[in-house]
Amino acid sequence: MPIYEYRCNACEKDFEKLVYNNQTIHCPKCGSDDVRKKLSTFGMRGVENPGSSGCSSCSSGSCSSCH
Ligand SMILES: [Zn+2]
Repeated sequence: MPIYEYRCNACEKDFEKLVYNNQTIHCPKCGSDDVRKKLSTFGMRGVENPGSSGCSSCSSGSCSSCH
């Protein structure tokens, strides 16, 4: 399961979140859903395996182009 890093646009808090589908992400601090995914860092970095990271529709390990 992928762990993504997000930043809240409302209060600028950085946080990590497990994401199962394209569920709505809420900031744990202020509750806003105005968050953006940080593309540069993944929680699974270092143990990354091609095909098992990112999402099922791409095997590059980066989902920046398919979401
Ligand atoms: Zn926030």
